[in-house]
Amino acid sequence: MDRRKFLKTAAIGTAASAAFTTNLYARYTKTLKVCLSWPKTLPIMGEGALWFAKRVEELSNGSLKIKIFGANELVPALGVFDACSRGLIDGFHSGPYYWKGKNMAFALFSSFPFGMVYDEMDPWLDFGGGMNLWRELYARYNLIPFKGGNTGNQMGGWFRKPIKSLADLKGLKMRIPGLGGEVMARLGVKPVNIPGGEIYTALERGVIDATEWVGPSLDLIMGFQKVAKYYYTGWHEPGTLLELTFNKRKFERLPKEHQAIIEAASKEMHSRIFNEFQYQNAVKLKELLSGKYNVVLGNFPEDVNEAAKKAMQQILDEYSSKYKDFAMVYNNIKQFFPTIRKWTDTLPKWYLDIRDKGFIVD
Ligand code: CA
Repeated sequence: MDRRKFLKTAAIGTAASAAFTTNLYARYTKTLKVCLSWPKTLPIMGEGALWFAKRVEELSNGSLKIKIFGANELVPALGVFDACSRGLIDGFHSGPYYWKGKNMAFALFSSFPFGMVYDEMDPWLDFGGGMNLWRELYARYNLIPFKGGNTGNQMGGWFRKPIKSLADLKGLKMRIPGLGGEVMARLGVKPVNIPGGEIYTALERGVIDATEWVGPSLDLIMGFQKVAKYYYTGWHEPGTLLELTFNKRKFERLPKEHQAIIEAASKEMHSRIFNEFQYQNAVKLKELLSGKYNVVLGNFPEDVNEAAKKAMQQILDEYSSKYKDFAMVYNNIKQFFPTIRKWTDTLPKWYLDIRDKGFIVD
């Protein structure tokens, strides 16, 4: 082969190879629509979902793209479950307790009042059977859930008036979802479930008297400190799990590599969101304690805590006899929770207690 002919053939080869590569990616490039129950600009959670999309694109070398839609861009904030189940969208980032109206058992996957904290929830999901139960129940709705972050312990909420005793809760209208809302209802509160984006206006206009949201990390960004001055610690969401859920049939039709990438990137997002919540809660708590907002930070009185614990026990017992799936998940938790609690109480709790007696670093 003379040199000129060789160069010509090589050039054709390169062009053909480039075209083949382009076609290959064109053939396999897939875009999934994922909707959020919050704005995509919402720090930690919305930004976490955008980070997930970027990570999937990196890991798949651009062959899998995730297009993120904020709340109400494509479907309403709390319409994502149905839209995904029916295949109108491919996935969503939300919280399982929002769907307790469909199946009461879903509320247990978000963490429940006086239940497990993050360090206990995550082992339950991975090794205690929690994830298997969650997937089994969601499969009935043609959905497959992945862990989508955890908020850690959530604050009890913002109140316009101080809560000095159980009687002060009577008749209050409070935004509080999940089983926490049901506990509050038994203490005389009127719970309402409204999406994050609408809470501030409702509180400002007096449509509600109180709200919980997450913790200092996000609550100060929402501006609740401007319209309610009493901020309480709480027991209603001790380690709230978020979800990244996909349409099951659509997920199963993806190439195995893409399925594995979604699984891996969701795990990264899960721990990223939890870590950022812990970090931002600490940073924003410091800001709150500086006194610039004139907010009173406190704990609920003992009679509230005691009544709430009793109400929660009643709810668990009642719902277990009323709802078959709730009983199935709760029975699994009853096997796991006392076992891990023994460990938590034996070492981690003891350690935190003695660490606080005289600081090494202050
Ligand atoms: Ca909350």
